[in-house]
Amino acid sequence: MKFELPKLPYALDALKPIISEQTLNFHYGKHHQAYVNNLNNLVAGTEFENADLETIVKKAEGGIFNNGAQVWNHTFYFFQFAVAPKAIPEGKLLAAIEAKWESFDAFKEAFSKAAATLFGSGWAWLVKTDAGDLDIVQTSNAGNPMRDGLTPLMTCDVWEHAYYLDKQNVRPAYIADFWKIIDWKVIEERF
Ligand code: MN
Repeated sequence: MKFELPKLPYALDALKPIISEQTLNFHYGKHHQAYVNNLNNLVAGTEFENADLETIVKKAEGGIFNNGAQVWNHTFYFFQFAVAPKAIPEGKLLAAIEAKWESFDAFKEAFSKAAATLFGSGWAWLVKTDAGDLDIVQTSNAGNPMRDGLTPLMTCDVWEHAYYLDKQNVRPAYIADFWKIIDWKVIEERF
């Protein structure tokens, strides 16, 4: 199986000024592409040569895991944004958020805190458990909640390459802007 960089559902300048074209040129065009290229090179001749990406994320170790999970995580991240996003969740997803955190605002605060306090490089995630409840988890580096049997619904990339060109070292400013382009229609469909 030859992995490919998925085409984004929006133009590279479409998310500015929240995420600049320059950031997407590097984050999507260079970093995401590099993970795809590395994965294709690494799986050749291994047991994962014909595996699908989800199997690699769940089962692989070392470089194959790191690059495979980074391909999956970035695709999941980029595809949750929209130029005209649905700003607030509704229906079953909103009910599940309110059951866990009491209010949408309280959830946003808890998620923002998880993203802001993650030490070093990694990802903050909204996930669904086997029981159908919601939770917020942090993973370091290429980590992915599917390794722990959780279903990812939304993620915030807090590697510095996600925000440094636009926000320099001010990660909380990136997280505050993140909410402005999250399309809750996408998250509802994942739920
Ligand atoms: Mn990234």
